[in-house]
Amino acid sequence: MPLPKAELHLHIEGTLEPGLAFALAARNGVELPFKDAEELRHAYHFEDLQSFLDLYYRLMAVLHTEDDFAELADAYLARAAAQGVRHAEIFFDPQAHTSRGVPLATVVEGLGRALDTSEERHGVSTRLIMCFLRDESAASAMETLLAAKPYLHRIAGVGLDSAEAGHPPAKFREVYEVAAELGLRRVAHAGEEGPPAYISEALDVLGVERVDHGLRCMEDPELVERLVRDRVPLTLCPLSNVRLRAVRTLEEHPLPAMMDAGLMCTVNSDDPSYFGGYAGDNFDAVQRALGVGEERLRELARNSFLASFLEDDEERRALLIAEVDAYDFGADRA
Ligand SMILES: [Zn+2]
Repeated sequence: MPLPKAELHLHIEGTLEPGLAFALAARNGVELPFKDAEELRHAYHFEDLQSFLDLYYRLMAVLHTEDDFAELADAYLARAAAQGVRHAEIFFDPQAHTSRGVPLATVVEGLGRALDTSEERHGVSTRLIMCFLRDESAASAMETLLAAKPYLHRIAGVGLDSAEAGHPPAKFREVYEVAAELGLRRVAHAGEEGPPAYISEALDVLGVERVDHGLRCMEDPELVERLVRDRVPLTLCPLSNVRLRAVRTLEEHPLPAMMDAGLMCTVNSDDPSYFGGYAGDNFDAVQRALGVGEERLRELARNSFLASFLEDDEERRALLIAEVDAYDFGADRA
């Protein structure tokens, strides 16, 4: 049995495996610029965030119907469960779908259908977090937020993703103000490719409760001190950082230094289909490449539940943390 964990940084569109992409392309009559799943897999070599995003947006064009979104989410939940994920806070990018004519209702209801039965079928509780594309305008984000009002019973929070450099958090100040008024939780990607100042800005201007990535905080000792003092959770994604060249090699990943500094780190998969692994694969990778020991893996797992938005189900949070505390690494090896 793998170590129980929560996944807090996961883009559902980034779980689209080549096999499912081809199946959906055939079903929906979408032409993909690759001969087969094997050739597509070879395209998963990226220079940077932008080169990944180009393929990412191209592939998600196979998603059209509620069934497609439900199938996508269900495939992720099954894989995540097999790697010990017991709670998942799942990002989705509505603008990437509405901009190509897929209604928001189709996306939310399709994902929602899979999430509704996830706990019962996969043992994974879930939350849905709606992300805005930061390389689109603030007006487009606001329009998306207001259009989501009928579906807020399905949406726990908002996030900010896509190309970071040149798109500072403050661009979305008003959108986040309205999100807060609507009672939504707030997170944002910051400090992946963008500078440490974007992390401070996400906290100060957008009022985020968690920082997605936050890797580059290590360049600013005062910021690290603040993040430690305020126990701001960071959702790190080690395999993603290597694939998108935020770090040169996994062995050079700052996770151990970040934990030494007292930062509240979590380990997540980001876009697992593209970056070489799901949540458990990321845990295995940091254990292997960085020598992160068992007690630190336990701390990462505990952090993931502490940093999750399980406030309305403290009983489940306590239960899952107790499972982490009681976890026997020896039994997993046996
Ligand atoms: Zn991400």
